[in-house]
Amino acid sequence: GLLRYSEATIAAIATPPGPGAIGVVKVSGPLAETIMRRLFKPACGVREFQSHRLYYGWIVDPQTGQPVDEVLCVLMKAPHSYTREDVLEIQAHSGYFILTRILELVLREGARPAEPGEFTKRAYLNGRLDLSQAEAIAELTQARSETGLVMALSSLSGGLSQQALAIKQALTEALAVIEVAIDFPEEDLEIISTYELKEKISSQALSPIEELLKAYEATRVFREGISVVIAGRPNVGKSSLLNAILREERAIVSAIPGTTRDLIEGLVTIKGIPVNLIDTAGLRQARDEIEEIGVARARERIRQADLIIFVVDASEGLTREDQLIYQEIKERLHVVVLNKIDLVNDKNIRNFKGIFLGDQVVPVSALTGEGLDQLFQTLYDLLVGTDLPSPPPVAPNLRQKLALERAQKALIKALHNLERQESPEIVAMDIREALDCLGEITGETTTEEVIDHIFNRFCIGK
Ligand code: GDP
Ligand code: ZN
Repeated sequence: GLLRYSEATIAAIATPPGPGAIGVVKVSGPLAETIMRRLFKPACGVREFQSHRLYYGWIVDPQTGQPVDEVLCVLMKAPHSYTREDVLEIQAHSGYFILTRILELVLREGARPAEPGEFTKRAYLNGRLDLSQAEAIAELTQARSETGLVMALSSLSGGLSQQALAIKQALTEALAVIEVAIDFPEEDLEIISTYELKEKISSQALSPIEELLKAYEATRVFREGISVVIAGRPNVGKSSLLNAILREERAIVSAIPGTTRDLIEGLVTIKGIPVNLIDTAGLRQARDEIEEIGVARARERIRQADLIIFVVDASEGLTREDQLIYQEIKERLHVVVLNKIDLVNDKNIRNFKGIFLGDQVVPVSALTGEGLDQLFQTLYDLLVGTDLPSPPPVAPNLRQKLALERAQKALIKALHNLERQESPEIVAMDIREALDCLGEITGETTTEEVIDHIFNRFCIGK
């Protein structure tokens, strides 16, 4: 039989606010079909709606008989729907105001507003998705870069769950062997080969877990993005550089003017990494109150930044102000950008490189765009490393990573206890602990609290 998570019928506007060609009101639960009968007048005049068929017609307010909007309606009967409950989708081709009217009518007919992520939560609780797939949906809707998108899609198709299941399978087999030793204590673990057990645990469980943990580190910047601050004294070309990068990489969010002079920022994707670029007023001595605020802010931004682009002017020598700013940032992850190379010759550039020996120095011209590609490559190499060919197709998110780390710890303990020829009961406990942690990835052993936390990150209508 069908496992019903809840008897309540939920509804939400499933498309984001703002002007768009169509908007969707989604309804899930036992009242879906009744609501369709009450509110929807199909143009073809039928009274019985077939599942998974698109009907054209009107939403009509049953109390007034007034038409509200021209719509397409589809009823998806349980269990062949996203939530595995009866689902009604009303596609209206109007704006947010009309969608709200339609939602109000749906709620008047007995549905209640959906909580964030509640549709996906029902899909999970009714067994339609496992937890890592549900999380992938949340990540998909929040993906900030194309690479993040690819990784979320891969989790959605079950990449991570499959790996977790394969590891669990190996551990379950190992556990079976150990349980034989527990049941027949006269044949100690030595006879059933401690060596083979250790080999199985390390090659089929511990190594794949360590690979996934590496993938997490390698892909973190793609998921989370980073903040990059452009620092340097006035007139070296910070604003020009920011604008050149925003132009080159088609800014996702156009530049934001700051509240103080000369402080703007923009979100761009550089080689798949979401980067929040921040231009600062520099760290010069403040001459008035507004500048003081600007300088304090610049310092704060630099403190919080993941990476600093330190800009110097190639057409001028290194000034004392340049040196003071350099002292402040040199211990942080940074790139030295030698700007305005359109004004100088190669000898000047070599001289500057000599000054910043041991630093990454990239000659550019914010004016002509020369050197920007090299700057992007340098940033990528600093943030991701040079040995990652392309982002790994499967990578855990933070929650999954923490579970994997606990599994790793338990397995290292298991190997240690096997080594010391501890009793099989103790080794079995370690392996069960690892299995529990792995179960959290797919959601078999996840607590209610964790589940709620995951679904609360969703937006309403998902
Ligand atoms: P900021 O004070 O560091 O933000 O510097 P700006 O971006 O405002 O630039 C200061 C001056 O340098 C402006 O007149 C820019 O047009 C000029 N400038 C910036 N970058 C370049 C460059 O690459 N080449 C040349 N020739 N001039 C530049
Ligand atoms: Zn500026």
